Amino acid sequence: MSRYYLTTAIDYSNGDPHIGHAYEKVGADVVARFRRLMGEDVHFVIGMDEHGQKVAQEAAAQGRSPQELVDELAARFQDVWQRLNISHDDFIRTTEPRHSQAVQALVRRIRDTGDLYRDRYEGYYCSGCEAFKREAELEDGRCAIHRSREIEWTEEENWFFRLSAYRDRLIKHVQSNPEFIQPESRRNEILRLLEGGLDDISASRSRVGWGVPFPDEPGHTVYVWFDALPNYISAIGYPADGFGDWWPAALHVIGKDITRFHCVIWPAMLMSAGLELPETVWGHGFVKIGGGKLSKSEAALLDLDQLVARNGPDAFRYFLLREIPWDRDRDFASVDAFLQQFDERYNSDLANDLGNLLNRTVSMSRKYRDGVVSRTADTGLDAHIDSAVDAYGKAMREHRLHDGLDAAMSIVRAANGFIDSEQPWKLAKDPTQEARLDDVLAALVRGLGTTAVVLSPFIPTKAGEIWKRLGGDQLPSLADLTAELPTLLPESWDTVLFPRIEKERDGG
Ligand SMILES: [Zn+2]
Repeated sequence: MSRYYLTTAIDYSNGDPHIGHAYEKVGADVVARFRRLMGEDVHFVIGMDEHGQKVAQEAAAQGRSPQELVDELAARFQDVWQRLNISHDDFIRTTEPRHSQAVQALVRRIRDTGDLYRDRYEGYYCSGCEAFKREAELEDGRCAIHRSREIEWTEEENWFFRLSAYRDRLIKHVQSNPEFIQPESRRNEILRLLEGGLDDISASRSRVGWGVPFPDEPGHTVYVWFDALPNYISAIGYPADGFGDWWPAALHVIGKDITRFHCVIWPAMLMSAGLELPETVWGHGFVKIGGGKLSKSEAALLDLDQLVARNGPDAFRYFLLREIPWDRDRDFASVDAFLQQFDERYNSDLANDLGNLLNRTVSMSRKYRDGVVSRTADTGLDAHIDSAVDAYGKAMREHRLHDGLDAAMSIVRAANGFIDSEQPWKLAKDPTQEARLDDVLAALVRGLGTTAVVLSPFIPTKAGEIWKRLGGDQLPSLADLTAELPTLLPESWDTVLFPRIEKERDGG
């Protein structure tokens, strides 16, 4: 069986989960579920990045220990992922012993190759980015990303990693492996960055106690990015032999703001350690409000718990990937516009299009054929289903999740149009049209059953419910779909799949 190991960025433990975290996890979860649907053996890892200066500072500000803080946040994130039905196989935390052992083994291996050396660092450090900054990268003396944060002047004796030595190999790898950095826009950014040259980077900190102890160097901890990136191999058991069962990863899903770490530093670390590089790093875009990143107050209005509860977890998952293309940003004019669009999308796509198709298909099959569906010939709808499934598979394999979702929903639109044009209620009154009515009902059941399967990565719970209402049991894989299509629709079903939102409601 083909193996597929995918990861998301591990989330930094300095605040509550927000919509940006949710977008990334849901998108990666859709990829994981799609691969399982294709019959692949999937291993899906998410987790928490729990070390570093910013975590230590935040804990101190709250008068607590860093461990208390990260334990609480890890529980909070895991609770949200459970409610959003994220199907990860593992949750790695960088404060776990299995992780620090792996980091220390990797650091030792990189040091053995001669790629680590001691030097004195003098320069700026942004604790927002947890990164050293060149003077040229500052704007008005501040980090361009963290304008409200004081940039810190840092002087310390550190271990440095010879990143600069990997520039040419990295350029060659990026150029000869077009799938390595995706989408294309991210790949071009990284190539430009590499062509501009690379500085060596710190691999240790001597003034930050909250981290993995640097091997054989008392008083030093591993620099937080050098600690965080190896989570992708610590989670699968590095350095034990079994880690090769999953490595190299098929896919790292990350935000576009951390491509430098994942497409430059991480591959250079792997090259130094003699390990293979991941096949693809996917840098997704962001949810924006009014042209910018979410402000604190906007983020509070888009509280994740409320968003999940608003129309149910599946509706939220659907909305995120229907409205925010997986390869770029999506800007909403305001928080209200976001919520309004959420409700409109819910009503039009899920309550109306999908809900009505289910309602009409089951009730007509029951009414005209006692739920027994059989066919004599293929219809125009069947032809549409075939081409939509092809388009879906291609888009999903290329990580164009929004296009995959659109292809899936095109079956729903085509099936509703098919009902309108075929008018089964008229066919039912005409004894010469019996065979045609059989074909129409069979095509509708096939359309809906196919929709349930291809939508299942996006709306796993509701897709399973649709399949059951058609008389199926467990949702089949894509390959088994045709053989397992239900042929007898059960009689009773009472609850509405997606109840319409009837009233105007305010932003909350
Ligand atoms: Zn910064």
